[in-house]
Amino acid sequence: MAVPLNQMLRVGAYVAKKHLTGVKRYPLVLMLEPLFRCNLACAGCGKIDYPPEILKQRLSVAACMEAIDECGAPVVVIAGGEPLLHKEIEQIVDGAIARRKFVIVCTNALLLEKKMHLFKPSKWFSWSVHLDGSREEHDRSVCQAGVYNRAVTAIAEARRRGFRTIINCTLFDTAEPERTAAFFDDAMAMGVDGISVSPGYAYERAPDQQHFLNRRRTKELFRAVFARQGKGTWKKKWSFNQSSMFLDFLAGNQTFQCTPWGNPTRNFFGWQRPCYLLGEGYAKTFRELMEETDWDRYGTGNYEKCADCMVHSGYEATAVTQTIRRPWRAVAQLARGIRTEGPMAPDIPLDHQRPAEYVFSRHVEDALEKIRS
Ligand code: SF4
Repeated sequence: MAVPLNQMLRVGAYVAKKHLTGVKRYPLVLMLEPLFRCNLACAGCGKIDYPPEILKQRLSVAACMEAIDECGAPVVVIAGGEPLLHKEIEQIVDGAIARRKFVIVCTNALLLEKKMHLFKPSKWFSWSVHLDGSREEHDRSVCQAGVYNRAVTAIAEARRRGFRTIINCTLFDTAEPERTAAFFDDAMAMGVDGISVSPGYAYERAPDQQHFLNRRRTKELFRAVFARQGKGTWKKKWSFNQSSMFLDFLAGNQTFQCTPWGNPTRNFFGWQRPCYLLGEGYAKTFRELMEETDWDRYGTGNYEKCADCMVHSGYEATAVTQTIRRPWRAVAQLARGIRTEGPMAPDIPLDHQRPAEYVFSRHVEDALEKIRS
């Protein structure tokens, strides 16, 4: 079981309480980006292509704590940029854990061995190391040789010191099922506690726009990968740090609409609208984000930029809430496993989606003006 039992129970109780008290929209995971600066420049990244003035900005520890309290989500994922470049990252982690949040720090692992001593292993804390495939594939994906080896060494050290350590893996249209399955076997053999996998989102700021997956190709790829589970060098099932319903959705067996408020994002610009992937304006407070965002304008079928999205930050929350609302369906899915053959679930029609609006640079220009003045 990749998601720890205490986390499952706590998050399950949180969702059940929201459900029973009639709360329609609530967050599950706070995506906290205390900085955008990174020590890599990956081709598929939509977060680091900001002017230097923006890349210099950091959220203070106090601002991070305020965001955690305001949001109230039971899980806090600290991403970026590279969070280990933040000089007060250990204080942010300690503050979140003191608030009884499950904290996951996403890192490319280049600084992990150097900074690991600042953190303590805990049931509330996990490292999530970015690994997009085999040595050759990962180093190509992050545009730098040697990164895979350093990540693998850091994972081994984190495991040796008793840290819960998972990997996060983003697949692009260059992914090949046989190689991806072999990589998952290798990851399990490394001793990681879980794999978090997602198709890449076509960030409009990403330098490489050619290798994002479309919806049909995503489902075919995941079916082909899952069909190889237990048949390679790792004879058992892979441990995923995700719900079985979400993985079933990736394999084309569930028709889900996204839950963009499930993983709200707080960064230097404010609370990102509408989700972790799209930055179409920012709210000053979490309340403003939840109450004043026109949610019906977003999601697959509603908006052109959402047409190919099947990313975990949009759909894992849907899978979790569906599991709580219709447990019998989740139990049936768990019993049959992830179907890798046969007809796929119908997809959401795209005929009435509104066209894409290109608005991303407005908030950057506003912020630059503010910094310069
Ligand atoms: S489909 Fe949902 S999660 Fe994906 S980009 Fe659109 S609003 Fe965000």
